[in-house]
Order: sequence, then structure tokens, then C-alpha cells
Amino acid sequence: MARVYNFSAGPAVLPEEVLQEAAAEMMDYQGSGQSVMEMSHRSKVYDAIIKDAEKDLRDLLNIPDNYKVLFLQGGASQFFAEVPMNLMKNRKAGYILTGQWAKKAFQEAKIYGEAVELASSADKTFSYIPDCSDLDIADDLDYVYICENNTIYGTKYKTLPNTKGKLLVSDVSSCFLSEPMDVTKYGVVYGGVQKNIGPAGVVIAIIREDLITDDVLPGTPTMLKWKTQADNDSLYNTPPCYNIYICGKVFKWIKKMGGLEAMKVHNEKKAKILYDFLDSSELFKGIVVPEDRSLMNVPFITGDEEMDAKFIKEATAAGFVNLKGHRTVGGMRASIYNAMPIEGVEKLVEFMKEFEKNNK
Ligand SMILES: *Cc1c(COP(=O)(O)O)cnc(C)c1O
Repeated sequence: MARVYNFSAGPAVLPEEVLQEAAAEMMDYQGSGQSVMEMSHRSKVYDAIIKDAEKDLRDLLNIPDNYKVLFLQGGASQFFAEVPMNLMKNRKAGYILTGQWAKKAFQEAKIYGEAVELASSADKTFSYIPDCSDLDIADDLDYVYICENNTIYGTKYKTLPNTKGKLLVSDVSSCFLSEPMDVTKYGVVYGGVQKNIGPAGVVIAIIREDLITDDVLPGTPTMLKWKTQADNDSLYNTPPCYNIYICGKVFKWIKKMGGLEAMKVHNEKKAKILYDFLDSSELFKGIVVPEDRSLMNVPFITGDEEMDAKFIKEATAAGFVNLKGHRTVGGMRASIYNAMPIEGVEKLVEFMKEFEKNNK
């Protein structure tokens, strides 16, 4: 078995234990004589899988009873539309633009109402998080929207914006379960699972109960109305059963590893190894201001596109894969999600040191 060190931004590395367990259960899930892929989503066996997954997620994040947990489809990109459809009562919302995913959500909201740009870091190619301590927030805004960890640019909010009492909606796709999070600070937290939790095809949304109503924008499809999904415990129609099962296994793996506090320590250790090297290297450098650096996505460059390409090629051949930066920014990006072991980062840094020596 030749496993690589996979630094993909998503779909991304999963814990080996989880993959092995899933493989062992492939032909016969716990004596059911079927694979989880083959069973009815209305069966008792599957009901236990999805209920267990929800329970473990609630334990990990300490989700209060007045928040619903939904397992949805359509990716984070579809959720960009679901947010205004379900929340834009005054047809006006504020967006903080910290990268491509925030921008896409902002553009989508404009289809449904007035989307106001509250702050932006576009002036310095999204290499920092703008000061959000005293934003100009109009009284009639339905919510304030952020992308909490910017997967492409490698920034993360270290403090949440002061929304002046308005509802906060956050896309946490690329930092979901990477550290503890206080759910009560948000109206809605959501993310696609393919970054840090499971296989592509599931969005997990944690939504304060009072925000789940029949009062949605006219024309909202039944499936995209949160109330439909909440009333049916995410089983209004066939959910992505197998993918939810894998997410459930990842929740159990995180619990076994010590929960989110332990994950945070593990992730800080890994990020420090890489950032410390970038700060000391004469060839490679990070592109994000130190105080806003993400623990999950670490973009870096050499400043020379040919050198970047050479590095990516040699790294790939050495078993460090998917290090190419996003097509819109170039350079490199190492995504070091929960399931990336410390050795993966240590070995990558050793390889980078060696590359630097050979390319002076
Ligand atoms: C990947 C990503 C998305 C898009 O997710 P899809 O599931 O492909 O729609 C949105 N937001 C963030 C922060 C992401 O990292």
C-alpha cells in the first residue's frame, strides 16, 4: 500500500483508520449483510447511523438544544443561495469580502436582494482579515455573512466581527472541527464536509431553531427551505447516505483523538512547523499577514513561477501531492487538515529544506 501525503484543499485527506474501518464494513455492515451504500435510508440500521452522527457532532461542538443540525446536499455553493432564500426578510444583508468564497456568496445574495459590502481585503489580494470591530451596520440588515477560513488565500478570523446585534452567518467549510467553536455566537454555521470532515456531497448546517420558518422568499424550492429539511430530520428525500456514514466515523475518530481541544493542539503544532520554516526560509515565503494565518490552508510562493512549478513537480514525485496553489493565485498551498499527520508536515518541511539547498 503506497499512500501519499495529500495536501489537497478538498476533497482532502481522511483519517486512515476511518478508511480502513469503512473498507472492513464494505460487504457487510455490522451483520446487516449489506453495504451502507445499499441499504434503505428509512431502515432501522441507517436511522442509527445518521442519529449517531448527529449526536457525536453535537457532543463535539456542544451544540445547544435550540440549534438544529441538518445534513444537506448541493455543496457550500448551493447554500450561498439558501442563506438569502431563508433569511432575507428585509431583502438586505451585509457581506464581508475576504476571498473568492465570500465573493461568490455575495454575488449569489444579489440575486435575491441588496447585498451590502461591509468590509473587504481585496486591496491586498485577500492576504489579511479586515478590522471588523466597528462596521457600518444598517438597522435593516437581515444578517452579516462571513467566510471564516479562507481556503484559497489562507486567512482565518481570529475574532468574529462585531455584528452589533445582527445575526451572524458563517461558512466554516475549511475549518470545521479544526478547533472548538462557540455555536451560540452564530445564527447559522455551515460547511461542505469535503475539506475537513468527509467525502464530498454533504453540507452540514447548524441553524438556530427560530430561524427555521415558513417565511422564506417566494419561489424558494421545497428542498432548499430549511424547514422542510428540519421537519424531516434531513430525511425529506434520500440523503447522501454513505457520505454521512463516513462523516459519522470521522466524528468518532475526533472524539477518540480527544475532541476539538486536542485537534486544536494538533493543528497548531503542524501549522507552527510549516510557518516557522516559511519565516526562516530564503526561498519560500508565506503570503498572509502572521496574525491572520489559517491553521488549515497555508499558501506560499518562491516569487518565481518557474521555481514554483519545479518545486511542485519534484514534491509530487517524492509523494507530497496536491501542493499546487489555487488557479486564481498560483504558487503553492499546503492544506493541513485534521487528518494530516504531524509527520506529513515534518517531512514536507525536510523536503523543502533540501529543495532550497539544491536551488540556491
Ligand atoms: C470549498 C469551499 C466552498 C465550495 O464548496 P462546494 O461544496 O464545492 O460548493 C465554499 N466555501 C469554502 C470556504 C470552501 O472552502
